[in-house]
Amino acid sequence: MPSVPTGSEPEPALLANGEAGAPTSTRKPALLVSACLLGVCCNHRGEASTSAAVVALGDEYRLVRVCPETLGGLPTPRAAAELQADGSVRTGTGEDVTAAYHRGARAAVALARGVGATAAVLKARSPSCGCHAVYDGSFSRTLVSGQGVTAAALAAAGIAVRDEEDVAGA
Ligand code: SF4
Repeated sequence: MPSVPTGSEPEPALLANGEAGAPTSTRKPALLVSACLLGVCCNHRGEASTSAAVVALGDEYRLVRVCPETLGGLPTPRAAAELQADGSVRTGTGEDVTAAYHRGARAAVALARGVGATAAVLKARSPSCGCHAVYDGSFSRTLVSGQGVTAAALAAAGIAVRDEEDVAGA
């Protein structure tokens, strides 16, 4: 697994196949962050979506990596999936992966609570992590207003959610 390109102090064992990380610090507040934004190659293509603006938050926060889809038991790489109008999550071939997405969301909420995070920075437009918009389920790159499964679960648990574009534009 690639290392996180930040001087922050990531929490250990935050991915399904996570490795023990560096010792944690109690000096900075915890901030839950989509692992792919921190350089972890965990998206469905097996790639990262590193955001320099998010990495820089490590100066102020203890960045706690989380990848809900791998925590939910999905492999990397994996088939792209989209939220459907009925609330399910399906791949382009119709495979129902809803249970894994909800498992990952529950794990992310538990992690946020466990580390005392009151906020999260999540990957835009992901069916798990999207905070403002997600693809509409037609696999035609059409966006609709809404949140991914994990973003919605975190918000429902009182965790403030924003995405990397909010951070970069702040
Ligand atoms: Fe994992 Fe969320 Fe990044 Fe998807 S967007 S790879 S679920 S951290």
